Amino acid sequence: MKKGERPPAPAPLDGEVFDSHCHLDLMVGDRPASDGDSIALAAQAAGADVARVLDESRAVGVTRVVTIGYDLPSSEWAAEAAARYDGVYAGVAIHPNGSGDATPEALARIAELAALPQVRAVGETGLDYFRDWAAKEDQHASFRAHIEIAKRTGKPLVIHDRDAHQDVLRVLREAGAPDVVVFHSFSGDAELAKECAAAGYYMSFSGPVTYKNAGYLREAAKIVPVELILVETDAPYLPPTPHRGRPNSPYLIPLTLRCLAEVKSMPEADLCAAISANGEKIFGPW
Ligand SMILES: [Zn+2]
Repeated sequence: MKKGERPPAPAPLDGEVFDSHCHLDLMVGDRPASDGDSIALAAQAAGADVARVLDESRAVGVTRVVTIGYDLPSSEWAAEAAARYDGVYAGVAIHPNGSGDATPEALARIAELAALPQVRAVGETGLDYFRDWAAKEDQHASFRAHIEIAKRTGKPLVIHDRDAHQDVLRVLREAGAPDVVVFHSFSGDAELAKECAAAGYYMSFSGPVTYKNAGYLREAAKIVPVELILVETDAPYLPPTPHRGRPNSPYLIPLTLRCLAEVKSMPEADLCAAISANGEKIFGPW
């Protein structure tokens, strides 16, 4: 298979599960990919539309998706998609990398969107010290503003944490965490997983947990209590093994879920049931 080509569908899951974090708009080209974003460009070139993505996902047992906003237009898009399609729920936020755009007006609009019934999360927000696209002060201010919106609207907070583990935990402590916190695409080791579990934070695992060189993620997944575990794609990014470099999609969740089931020595069906129950508690009622 050529780089960029869509991976084939894996065998259907022995149960039903959902994708806690994806970017449908970037997958289907309803939002432009940024320059050099080869994976979003490849996804868009493959010509998917939302209905087809959902059909393909359902065919393997992925019956719901949470599509996540990262700026104002994508948050508006997510809220509209969630109103329009069964099984689609929205998260709204300004991504830490775009914190420079988190003006009071933009944040006020995020707060309005967050109050909509089909919007089930405030995120992705957090801190990103890997990229320096936004100043740290701006990132911290925007993160704190999103924490407030989540608390005010009673919606779960979906966190993007890149190379910023301890600062993310510290800001949550200082500001007072919302009732429900999800670490999206959990990227820490077993130590961080222990800290998150002690605080009652959910940890959502994505494609990288399947990567050969990511033993630390499997060690983390092993110790995450089953009541706090989630699975996601972050599609079109982070495809699971053996599809690195190709566009990701919720229909590839089974590959990541099977890796997690093996790590946790759990039957696939039991893990699907546990994650679905967690999902309903966090993002539901469906
Ligand atoms: Zn994301």
